[in-house]
Amino acid sequence: MREFDYIILGGGCAGLSLAYELEIHEKLKNKSLAIIEPREDYKKDKTWSFWKIIPHNFDDCVKKSWDNFSINIPGKTNYLECKDYPYQSIDSGLFYKKINNKLKDNKNVYFFKDINEIDKKNSFIFNSIPNIKKNHLNIWQHFCGVEIETQNNFFDKEIFNLMDFDCEQRESVHFFYTLPYSKNKALVETTWLSKMNDNSQKDYDNQIKSYIENNLKIKNYKITYKEEGAIPLFYPLIKNEKNMINIGTAGGMTRLSTGYTFLNIQEHSMYIRRNIENIVNSKNYEISKKYQFLDEIFLRVLDNHPEKMPDIFFKMFKTSPKTVIKFLSNKSNLLEDLSIIFKMPKWLFIKALFY
Ligand SMILES: Cc1cc2nc3c(=O)[nH]c(=O)nc-3n(C[C@H](O)[C@H](O)[C@H](O)COP(=O)(O)OP(=O)(O)OC[C@H]3O[C@@H](n4cnc5c(N)ncnc54)[C@H](O)[C@@H]3O)c2cc1C
Repeated sequence: MREFDYIILGGGCAGLSLAYELEIHEKLKNKSLAIIEPREDYKKDKTWSFWKIIPHNFDDCVKKSWDNFSINIPGKTNYLECKDYPYQSIDSGLFYKKINNKLKDNKNVYFFKDINEIDKKNSFIFNSIPNIKKNHLNIWQHFCGVEIETQNNFFDKEIFNLMDFDCEQRESVHFFYTLPYSKNKALVETTWLSKMNDNSQKDYDNQIKSYIENNLKIKNYKITYKEEGAIPLFYPLIKNEKNMINIGTAGGMTRLSTGYTFLNIQEHSMYIRRNIENIVNSKNYEISKKYQFLDEIFLRVLDNHPEKMPDIFFKMFKTSPKTVIKFLSNKSNLLEDLSIIFKMPKWLFIKALFY
């Protein structure tokens, strides 16, 4: 069986982002890479959105970018600007196509469906298959989104809605998220932050239908695409092995308070590329401990008081949007952290410290 210098386990977002980063920086000129990916073909299966706080390789896969957003709780709406860090949505179909087109020109890059097809004992492995082990909180962000096309122009395409809490909460945290791509096309997503012990919140189709027809008051529309997912808001089990680094969700790249992962994956790929020549001895890359700690407290409050969360999110965005975006994108300084912490209900957070 053939041996390779590098193996990427899982050719999804993290695996392909890393392969692309290595390829465009000519790190695969004299090194061989095997990507293990079971899927038969690559088609659009996700929409990755984030505030663009750092440069990345995929501006040409951006479906739409916004400079304004809103957040609402029943009876109140806050309109915010994000010109400095525009919110971008990446079409995964374009992303897969761009990377696969680039990689196919390199004769050192091979795709396999199963790890057992190759000899892995002398390779360095980048693993993106998470070992999910529930933690004490076991909170997930689970969601279902549909892209709709309306008969008449309906949406203001210049402003997206990050969170609309004006919907039933069912003793959890629930909001809708709407990304208007044009005046008559949008992604509408129902999102829950909750334990996933039962399926009682998974009547997604009914929730979305009711929101579109009763809240948005759209009657004539058709669904053109659907995506569903669940992001664990706890870190997967990471075993320290000498010749292996975990990447993507498996590598703890998800920000636990938000589920945002895409840009962290890009930063991790850049870090690996910079250190690839001495990867065996390079330091583990992780989301800073400060955010790990603050997110843990945040999730404890969410677990204890889901009913308070719409208000807490709304208040958080009362700080300057630039500050909140930096905080949610792991780029805030101490002063910025404090300005957000002071907006939070102090007693709830102090209690959560001793939970
Ligand atoms: C529907 C959805 C929407 C999301 N939206 C956002 C967003 O808007 N913004 C954001 O920042 N994050 C978002 N996320 C979170 C995160 O960015 C994505 O989950 C991202 O795809 C994580 O990348 P990954 O490489 O870790 O996992 P994946 O992209 O899931 O890649 C893992 C790959 O491993 C393959 N695989 C599985 N089993 C094996 C095996 N045994 N051997 C080899 N390969 C295997 C899979 O086929 C897959 O291709 C979203 C997640 C989902 C599910």
